[in-house]
Amino acid sequence: MDLTWLKEWGDDVLRVIFPKVCEVCGRSLARGENLMCLHCNLDMPRTRLHLENFNILHQRLVGKAPIEKATGYFYYYRESDYARLIQIAKYNNRPAIINQLATQFVNELRTIQFFDDIDIIIPVPMHWLKRLNRGYNQSEVLAKALSKATGIAVVDALKASRGHGTQTRKNRYERWENTKGLYQVKNVDAIEGKHLLIVDDVITTGATILACCEEIHRVSPTTRLSVLSLGVTHLQ
Ligand SMILES: [Zn+2]
Repeated sequence: MDLTWLKEWGDDVLRVIFPKVCEVCGRSLARGENLMCLHCNLDMPRTRLHLENFNILHQRLVGKAPIEKATGYFYYYRESDYARLIQIAKYNNRPAIINQLATQFVNELRTIQFFDDIDIIIPVPMHWLKRLNRGYNQSEVLAKALSKATGIAVVDALKASRGHGTQTRKNRYERWENTKGLYQVKNVDAIEGKHLLIVDDVITTGATILACCEEIHRVSPTTRLSVLSLGVTHLQ
């Protein structure tokens, strides 16, 4: 028996009792809208970086490791309502926000077969003490959401050997200095010769994610590397 009508009726009743609102503008969400309303969704400052060769994010990640593809979903302006989505997810423990953004992004990237040659998804790790303190690592949440939407496995192949403190108050040079020797590969066999997608919730200078890529390249030069985030900041 098809009970879709019952679920839809139930959803409608719930929506009247507990209206879900757009996390960006606060308006009530209509049926079929998740997280944000259609208007805010269309207004999101998408980067569309994956449509450009050697885009500005890619240029930011030039270092000792060759990176094949680099993209992020939207431009992250610190005070914007869209940046607030990522902050709410992180500090108010709302992984559903990351899941929804990741699912949407995957659907948009599918049109260019972005994931077709990716073998493994790897989150940027967090030092275990910090992870224990916060309860979860946002890049892990993103990696799992991408995995669910693409069917590509997540491999926990990296570890952070120490906490690197907050990066936000450091200048660009200090951030680069601060990531030296920070990441190690736990399991070289799991990544050897594969094409990895290294993911983080937000990329600012790129120092963190590049440090991960450089360490992987150092221990396993045949491993291919690409990079993805939800937010990408504009550099000052
Ligand atoms: Zn809205």
